[in-house]
Amino acid sequence: MNLIPEQLPERRRFLRLTGSAVAAAGFLGWASQAHAAQPSVAPAGQASQPAAKLPPAVKLPAMQEDKTEKSEMPVQLGKDGRLGLAIVGLGRLSLEEIMPALASSKRCKVTALVSGDPEKARRVAAMYDVPQTSLYSYDTFDQLRDNPDVHAVYIVLPNALHREFVIRAAQAGKHVLCEKPMATSVADCQTMIDACKAADRLLMIAYRIQYEPLNRQVMDWVRDGSTLGTIKLIDMANCQNQSKENVRQWRHVKALAGGGALPDIGLYCLNTARFLLGEEPIEVSASQYSSEGDSRFTEVEEAMLWQMRFPSGVRVQCSSSYATFTSKRYRVLGDKGWADMDPAFAYEGLQLKRSQIASDTSEFIAPGIEQISTKVKNQFALEMDHFAECVVTGKQPWTPGEEGLQDQRIMEAIYESARIGKPVRLEPVKGLDAFRGTPPAKS
Ligand code: NAD
Repeated sequence: MNLIPEQLPERRRFLRLTGSAVAAAGFLGWASQAHAAQPSVAPAGQASQPAAKLPPAVKLPAMQEDKTEKSEMPVQLGKDGRLGLAIVGLGRLSLEEIMPALASSKRCKVTALVSGDPEKARRVAAMYDVPQTSLYSYDTFDQLRDNPDVHAVYIVLPNALHREFVIRAAQAGKHVLCEKPMATSVADCQTMIDACKAADRLLMIAYRIQYEPLNRQVMDWVRDGSTLGTIKLIDMANCQNQSKENVRQWRHVKALAGGGALPDIGLYCLNTARFLLGEEPIEVSASQYSSEGDSRFTEVEEAMLWQMRFPSGVRVQCSSSYATFTSKRYRVLGDKGWADMDPAFAYEGLQLKRSQIASDTSEFIAPGIEQISTKVKNQFALEMDHFAECVVTGKQPWTPGEEGLQDQRIMEAIYESARIGKPVRLEPVKGLDAFRGTPPAKS
């Protein structure tokens, strides 16, 4: 990427300035004085010196990447304190979920729209009070750079277009929230991460389930080790029946979707299993099929069935299909209890049930089943509000680009396993939440 000097990302401009400040400080002998100006404890046997009047401390650039490091130039929000979003792509998800969810958001508002259909954009803008001067096409997208009311863009386009628009958004100086799946190849995911880093813009992948309170409750139980005991097995499914009316819609075209049931809906099983456990799988084994003669699935798979093995020994069994009645559920089984989410991945109406060995005895008693309830919160609003908080504070989001890249790596291993008919091993990853940033605030 070539940038002319005045377009240099803010952090790089800052680092250049800081670099010259450090050089000047060294020349004048300020650096050592500035260091001495920091609070210090005198070594044993030495009296501390009276504090001299010194110039302010010189801030040195960070030595190491730190996933919670703060950006040097956080965005300046308007008087209402809300992050201004440009919504890119006015399809079903934008119009039916994301834009209505802004009514429940505490930190975001829509300030621009990007669409290939000017008339639709005008109508949507009128509904959401977006100025008619803040409507863009895919060709004029880069002019978002000059719109100070747009702090970030939310990419809601077919999967294969995410790469181009994430890169263009970052180069236009905007932070980026990108729908799942992040892209259609590992190489594209990496390029998107690199582009956002080079422009010092945040990149977050919109994994709404990781911000949803009931799913977060299950994560706490899985990780506390006592509520459900030692986790042994997770059984998950995300299935739906694709319309037969529009067989050539982009989800059935490999070049636009990247694949079929797996990257679109199976991804929820993959991503949620990783999120609940915090671990990364070390092996996958998979099989895929498409019913003969079904014109929806000439390019992409109808169904992907796979297992994942995690370092702790947990086995996760996943089913995704584009040709069954809707089922979006999982059950986590430990040796002392289970947690069941059904539906787990729907936009609303999620239901969590739990069953445990009674706590006052080690004997198994016929299990009672508890229904767990919580105040219903809009998942998209929670996700967007976390993004806004990260943009303002400069903290790494809980689901950054690296989280999307890891899913893509695993999906490629799943396809490979289905192709060769054998298990495929994955690079072991140490630690918990290795690809995640700052956890979302308790909602
Ligand atoms: P959609 O088909 O309803 O909308 C896609 C939009 O992209 C349309 O406005 C369309 O006009 C536009 N577009 C631009 N270039 C296009 C092209 N070359 N071909 C086709 N459309 C083009 O799709 P959607 O359901 O809104 O999905 C958009 C993205 O959101 C996808 O990445 C999808 O995986 C993701 N998604 C996420 C969730 C979630 O719960 N997080 C749910 C649904 C979809």
